[in-house]
Amino acid sequence: MVKLYCDVCGKEVTLEEGTLSWRDDGNALSDFRITHKEDQNHPDPKHVAYIHLWIITGIAGYTRFTELLADHWEKGYALKDYKGLKKALDQISTYIWHKSKENIQKSTTRL
Ligand SMILES: [Zn+2]
Repeated sequence: MVKLYCDVCGKEVTLEEGTLSWRDDGNALSDFRITHKEDQNHPDPKHVAYIHLWIITGIAGYTRFTELLADHWEKGYALKDYKGLKKALDQISTYIWHKSKENIQKSTTRL
């Protein structure tokens, strides 16, 4: 079973208690991090946007998030934290990949 880890406290974070959060200051997106909801810890809380892990680890939520990014690039937003975004997306896509493999294994053992 693949697990997700909090970028702030380093402990395991479950889908129910975690978020992917970032900073949206009106012209740039930055500070992408996967954390427990109470560990988001961004310097300026009123510019913080987030999505729950249980939503973004579903295909619909994941594609919605990529749409949201595309909408921001279209508006001329800068991406200030490529590494953070890449790290977060990597954790999430690895999670989805293992999850879908488990489902395939479950359905083939049932046959
Ligand atoms: Zn944490």
